Amino acid sequence: MPKPLRTDQSQKLFQEAQKHLVGGVNSPVRAFKGVGGTPLFFARGKGPYLIDVDGNRYLDLVGSWGPLILGHADTAVLNLVRRTIRKGLTFGAPSPLETQLAILVKKAFPSIDKVRFVSSGTEAVLSVLRLARAATQKKRIIKFNGCYHGHGDSLLVAAGSGAATLGLPDSPGVPEEFASLTLSLPYNDLTAVQAAFSKYNDIAAVIVEPISGNMGLVPPKKWFLQGLRDLTSQNKALLIFDEVMTGFRVAFGGAQELYGIKPDLTTLGKIIGGGMPVGAYGGRQELMSQVAPEGPVYQAGTLSGNPVAMAAGIATLKKLSDPDFYKKLEASAAFVEEGVKRAIQKIGAEAVFQRVGSMATLFFYAHPIENYEQAKESDRNKYAAFFWAMARRGVYIPPSQFEAWFFSGALTQENLKKVVKVIGESLKEALEAH
Ligand SMILES: *Cc1c(COP(=O)(O)O)cnc(C)c1O
Repeated sequence: MPKPLRTDQSQKLFQEAQKHLVGGVNSPVRAFKGVGGTPLFFARGKGPYLIDVDGNRYLDLVGSWGPLILGHADTAVLNLVRRTIRKGLTFGAPSPLETQLAILVKKAFPSIDKVRFVSSGTEAVLSVLRLARAATQKKRIIKFNGCYHGHGDSLLVAAGSGAATLGLPDSPGVPEEFASLTLSLPYNDLTAVQAAFSKYNDIAAVIVEPISGNMGLVPPKKWFLQGLRDLTSQNKALLIFDEVMTGFRVAFGGAQELYGIKPDLTTLGKIIGGGMPVGAYGGRQELMSQVAPEGPVYQAGTLSGNPVAMAAGIATLKKLSDPDFYKKLEASAAFVEEGVKRAIQKIGAEAVFQRVGSMATLFFYAHPIENYEQAKESDRNKYAAFFWAMARRGVYIPPSQFEAWFFSGALTQENLKKVVKVIGESLKEALEAH
């Protein structure tokens, strides 16, 4: 057994933080409600490592919830950010970097003719739904249980991850009238979508995480995304891929490249900001031209297209343009998958490791998970024990069963071997504890 983790400094900082910040944090899942214990406070990150304020060093499989596909403090990213900040932090006016990042995004996503940058994934989704409703002149939205699309009112319906961990499928403060325009259906269930289209003739759009990462990693069935494409086209509704997580993650061109399906509109975030706050939405010219100032659909932002954030994004996407990057990342994640599957078998653990590209989740559940209804059945107590067993051995995974793990390009072969070994040991420890 490894030594207990020293968390004196984290505990002290958390106590102080709780006096001044709601729950001591600025985003709920960081409070560790999903695994218990004190949230770890971090001092710095470098490459594949995160170092906490007590000096514990972890291989990081969270990557700030997705953005850090290059690992922490990547030299190329920091250099371009440094060069940019010398010239000032924001102008509230156009600067050359916005166009550069837009060109990189368009190169990766042929479904996008024009881009609008915003400052978060939440903002991207809110904006794209307004556009979808305006363009179709319809009201209703279909989403899927366990898919998270940010915390906008009409999307906090069966929203997975953070909300699931807290046991709040919905939030107080969201009027029923707003929620009533959102239909939330089971993931990977086309029959339900068909039924919804038969029942309602005012469906503006279907929004989906083309690979769900916010109930833990749940891949789409092959026919699911194609079915959504067909049903939306037949019913004159728009198909929106929320690729805030999957964009530049599972392939340079996201899930739409991986599965060869073209949505009408796409939202992006996380990786395109390279660790800075950025979101984006985009799509065909005729849709995007309805957004102000080209069209009447209003959407604006004081810091939208912020040069520092654009710089971090540009440096990141340039590195990702190397086709070998995703090959190597796939190989890394596949290596871990094989090791973990062997360990699960050897131990006889009731667990499944689900993975698409460099996104994965280990569920404490007997069978592969296809939707949120099943994800909720997984054994969260075992996950909590597993999380701390991993942390004590120097590997940091998400502090919730309902969040995806992310592998970064910074992980070396040696790092990956350690990850596999630590998962095997931690599985054993978690099972013995329960
Ligand atoms: C993270 C995420 C969001 C929200 O992005 P924020 O930047 O946290 O507002 C929206 N959709 C998906 C699929 C996400 O993973």
